[in-house]
Amino acid sequence: MAIIEATNINLFYGQKQALFDVNLAFQEHTVNALIGPSGCGKSTFLRSLNRMNDLMPNVTITGEIKVDGQNIFSPTTDLVQLRKKVGMVFQQPNPFPFSIYDNVAFGPRIHGIRDKQILDELVETSLKQADLWEAVKDRLQDNAAGMSGGQQQRLCIARVLAVKPEVILMDEPTSALDPVSSGKIENLIYDLKSDYTIVIVTHNMQQASRISDNTAFFLSGKVIEFDKTAHIFSNPSDKRTDDYISGRFG
Ligand code: ADP
Repeated sequence: MAIIEATNINLFYGQKQALFDVNLAFQEHTVNALIGPSGCGKSTFLRSLNRMNDLMPNVTITGEIKVDGQNIFSPTTDLVQLRKKVGMVFQQPNPFPFSIYDNVAFGPRIHGIRDKQILDELVETSLKQADLWEAVKDRLQDNAAGMSGGQQQRLCIARVLAVKPEVILMDEPTSALDPVSSGKIENLIYDLKSDYTIVIVTHNMQQASRISDNTAFFLSGKVIEFDKTAHIFSNPSDKRTDDYISGRFG
């Protein structure tokens, strides 16, 4: 079943059109990579999926995005609920300047969970899912700022997991990390897909081919093709995709 279905998305920053008739659907429990040269609209599209950009002044968006069959642009959409369902991890790890525990408990608290035992359990489960529990279980009250970059990014993933999302959007989540930390995040993404649907923007073609089931190739605000990752990387249908993945431009 498609958990996200974007139909005829056109997006403008002022007069400048950044997305042209984008149609993409993502199936449940898959990893979907968005690739393409810088400035081709990958982040813009990603941010549309939980309405991170259409509320900015000057942004106009047309078309429809359904999450679980519901149009997210409907006037009745509750943005807090939407972002609980569709969480986001950014390029730069951005933990809050709080303790490790409070970072993970932040989302559940916003959603009204006060019971300490439930919060403790959520914090532990989320940190375990993010492969961070063993490293931090004895220092949950330490400030997150003292963690390494890779740990901070896994903390940001734990923070998203703590509110039990269905979809996780990731905008180049490893590009600020060293290769070992990146590898850990890649393994994590691979493991998470049994429970979540992941949409990831990446500049790294090897990363896309290692971790994703499906890949969308964007060029100048358009989706040139979207297919099984193995197909995109071995036998793309469009010459422009072939040129890009072969390193002939971008
Ligand atoms: P990518 O993620 O593929 O690098 P982006 O989605 O960031 O591409 O950008 C697509 C286009 O939209 C680019 O031309 C970029 O300059 C423009 N753009 C992105 N964000 C903004 C913004 N907040 N205001 C105006 N233009 C923007």
